[in-house]
Amino acid sequence: MNIYQKYGLKQIINASGKMTALGGSALNSMVARAMFEAAQDYVDMQELTIKAGKIIAEMTTAEDGCPTVGAAAGIAISTAALIAGKNLTLIERLPYSEGLSNEIIIQKGHLINFGASIAQMIRLGGGRVVEVGQVNHVKKDHILESISEKTAAIFYVKSHHAAKKGMLSTSEIIEIGREKNIPVIIDAAAEEDIKKYIQNGANLVIYSGGKAIGGPTSGFICGEKELVEACRLQYLGVGRAMKVGKEQIMGLIAALEIYYDRVETKQEELQKAKWIVEQFKNIQGITASIIQDEAGREIYRAQLKFDEKKLKISTDEIINKLERGEPSIFIRNYYANLGIISIDPRTLLSGQEKIIVNRIKEILNIQ
Ligand SMILES: *Cc1c(COP(=O)(O)O)cnc(C)c1O
Repeated sequence: MNIYQKYGLKQIINASGKMTALGGSALNSMVARAMFEAAQDYVDMQELTIKAGKIIAEMTTAEDGCPTVGAAAGIAISTAALIAGKNLTLIERLPYSEGLSNEIIIQKGHLINFGASIAQMIRLGGGRVVEVGQVNHVKKDHILESISEKTAAIFYVKSHHAAKKGMLSTSEIIEIGREKNIPVIIDAAAEEDIKKYIQNGANLVIYSGGKAIGGPTSGFICGEKELVEACRLQYLGVGRAMKVGKEQIMGLIAALEIYYDRVETKQEELQKAKWIVEQFKNIQGITASIIQDEAGREIYRAQLKFDEKKLKISTDEIINKLERGEPSIFIRNYYANLGIISIDPRTLLSGQEKIIVNRIKEILNIQ
């Protein structure tokens, strides 16, 4: 029995990915131990924050880093930093930003909901959201024509939720930022590559610690020294409502420190996905294959495509039965309307792939 079941909560098998709704990441024991130890003693928080920044910088090749409680907090804090800078009076005045350079330019296809709204997180930091173009169509001119003396930054969202067509790329946005001397912030919350956007020249990049990085509920902003310093100072203002604890910071550090040692884990995950595919080979009505992540990250999942007529059951019903069973199994269901589900091996605990395969076979009445 796990700690959640002791409180009467249902057991979950998460095959859907690093979902906030299912608790983000299940921690590696080294990461959990770091948090356990951090929780039982005192530390100078300012010193810890600076040290965490140095480690974030090392791992991301940025000049400096600032730990946050999550990527959403990172959006609000980086916005605040670009509006108030290091001015204490302004820091204490946000999110009220009337009269300041407070405009944040964003392509319309990037105004997504990740569980909450990107635009709202920008407003929380005092930003006035300036949407440009249409949801499937943005040109360089749209951006150029929206730039004024009130522009604080251009905000770019790298996510599978964002529009896939018609948007300007990160490099195009970075180039415009450079040309016009306007900082570019990239929300790369769930991205695996934690160096790429810094190396491409983004001024600030935001990550979630609880997603690809596999840390606890946490996150960070990395980027140029002066801007990151301004980010840290926002903890005297709006950031205080997003206070990050010593345990989270230490968990994040531990997760970052083992981040590049995961080659073996990746291999194991791929093996798991392949094993699942193997179990559905030669079964009438099911096409099983390995597929790469829809946002192009180095993540491989087992995909099952159901022939609903042959199997005499709808994909929605299969998903429903998986979720309502005991344990409750959550698979990736973005393409359920096409009769497709996928199983993310990254979030499976030892042996859970077998439980999932057996349960699917049981639902479909196959041996
Ligand atoms: C998940 C996500 C966030 C929020 O991250 P948290 O760490 O949960 O606060 C922000 N932006 C994008 C694109 C996301 O995918």
